[in-house]
Amino acid sequence: MTGIVYKSTGSWYTVKTELGEIYECRIKGKFRIKGIKSTNPIAVGDIVDFELETDNNEVTGIIHNIYDRKNYIIRKSVNLSKQTHIIASNIDQVFLLVTINNPVTFTSFIDRFLVTAEAYSIKAILLFNKIDTYDENNLLEVKYLKSLYKNIGYQCYEISAKEGKNVDKVKQLMTDKVSMFTGHSGVGKSTLINKIEPELDLKIQEISLQHMQGQHTTTFSEMFDLSFGAKIIDTPGIKGFGVVDMDREEVGDYFPEFFKLKENCKFNNCLHLNEPKCAVKKALDNDKIAFSRYRSYLSILENESENYRTDNWDK
Ligand code: GDP
Ligand code: ZN
Repeated sequence: MTGIVYKSTGSWYTVKTELGEIYECRIKGKFRIKGIKSTNPIAVGDIVDFELETDNNEVTGIIHNIYDRKNYIIRKSVNLSKQTHIIASNIDQVFLLVTINNPVTFTSFIDRFLVTAEAYSIKAILLFNKIDTYDENNLLEVKYLKSLYKNIGYQCYEISAKEGKNVDKVKQLMTDKVSMFTGHSGVGKSTLINKIEPELDLKIQEISLQHMQGQHTTTFSEMFDLSFGAKIIDTPGIKGFGVVDMDREEVGDYFPEFFKLKENCKFNNCLHLNEPKCAVKKALDNDKIAFSRYRSYLSILENESENYRTDNWDK
């Protein structure tokens, strides 16, 4: 049988088949996944094959195969072992909620998020929330940011989670896909999810409560089916959007508008700093590239000697 992992609590995995049957599954014996070493061999979002086993009239599953992941996001433990934990896999899209006020979302933050999404090969969509609260200047800023990011190729929408503006549009984008939501604390993630599907919010809160009461501080992500044929992955307690290890040479490739120009740079390993005949610097001088984007690029490049983390954004 084949199914998708909806939840994992240590050694047990909740797997749902295409017919909607739910089985608690385990891994038997040695089970190794090529490629990455992680503390969890199987993660939420994984597609797996399993066989049923009956023990004392209880039917459980034994997972014996995992299909290649289209993408996955990870977290690294802060302790010395720096072990990798896979938060979720096979994600179709991540929505970043952006607010101009209460709280302020800076372009440096947006750009770091977008770089991470590019590095993970996950589609990113920007939602400018709390549109109902903005004055003229705020609205001009939204307009500017929307055009900036649309020109690079990202979808952007103005929404009001509170008043329901464009929530139907978000639901339409989510249909038949696996989505995640992220953004600073207070941008309106819970409000939006509540508008999208009121019952889901309750479920998520219950789960968070269980986590808080449990002895283990480990948090588990979980996938939920929504009534209109969408899937959402909730990652309680995980702030930000995972970690990416990048080489300095790679960073520019995750700025799509830089990447397009790279072949015109004189040096094929150009870092777009002070190299002669750099197409990116030239575009910057001609206002073809936004200065805020270049500034974000420099800042990420500087941090790149260390692991670049987005999982402690709110701290
Ligand atoms: P989260 O931390 O991202 O989950 O943010 P919440 O959903 O808890 O929202 C934080 C605060 O912003 C709450 O008081 C919400 O009522 C408010 N809020 C969220 N979305 C909107 C919106 O579109 N318009 C207005 N006016 N307030 C909003
Ligand atoms: Zn260059």
